[in-house]
Amino acid sequence: MDNPLLYTVTNNDIDTLIDPKTLQTRITELAKDITRDYQNQDLLMVCILRGGVVFLTDLMRNIPIPHLIDFMAVSSYIDGRTKSEGRVRITMDLLTDIEDMNVLLVEDIVDTGYTLRQVLELLNSRSPRSLRVCTLLDKHERREVEVNIDYVGFQIPDKFVVGYGLDDQDGHWRNLPYIGVARK
Ligand code: 5GP
Repeated sequence: MDNPLLYTVTNNDIDTLIDPKTLQTRITELAKDITRDYQNQDLLMVCILRGGVVFLTDLMRNIPIPHLIDFMAVSSYIDGRTKSEGRVRITMDLLTDIEDMNVLLVEDIVDTGYTLRQVLELLNSRSPRSLRVCTLLDKHERREVEVNIDYVGFQIPDKFVVGYGLDDQDGHWRNLPYIGVARK
């Protein structure tokens, strides 16, 4: 029988935007590209907590070349004023010294681009050998600052999405195996 929790969630609260099979297929494609691009090179994948963690764990299981992982957490200043200035606060820093390493930042979603821009500035100041970005989701029409993204899973419309690591801002729905849009 289908999981009753998922059945309830799917039918009453959340509309599916990207189903599990489509997600996994695209993730294996991204992993293939990353594997090809980092052949015979060191690789450190840096995951931005907490939203990126589900994506990272599926992605890394499809990347057969040796690589390291590390985590950092950031929080946006969301009082309106500072959000538009694009200021983010590092709430948990990396344990790894990234100087002279090939770093791949693994993000759940890029929206306005402010968070990514700040994180890239910080990581670049630590002199990695290379620094690239992989995001599962890209809300390109919402972009306010230009940021370069090397690997994109899916372009999505301007809707607030949950599931597959992403929460509703109260910490819920991260465990859904698909990307969905909450019904109003
Ligand atoms: P940005 O700085 O690009 O505007 O925002 C990036 C962050 O905002 C993401 O890492 C994520 O935490 C949050 N965010 C943006 N759009 C969504 C969304 O549709 N759903 C969820 N759950 N978080 C989002």
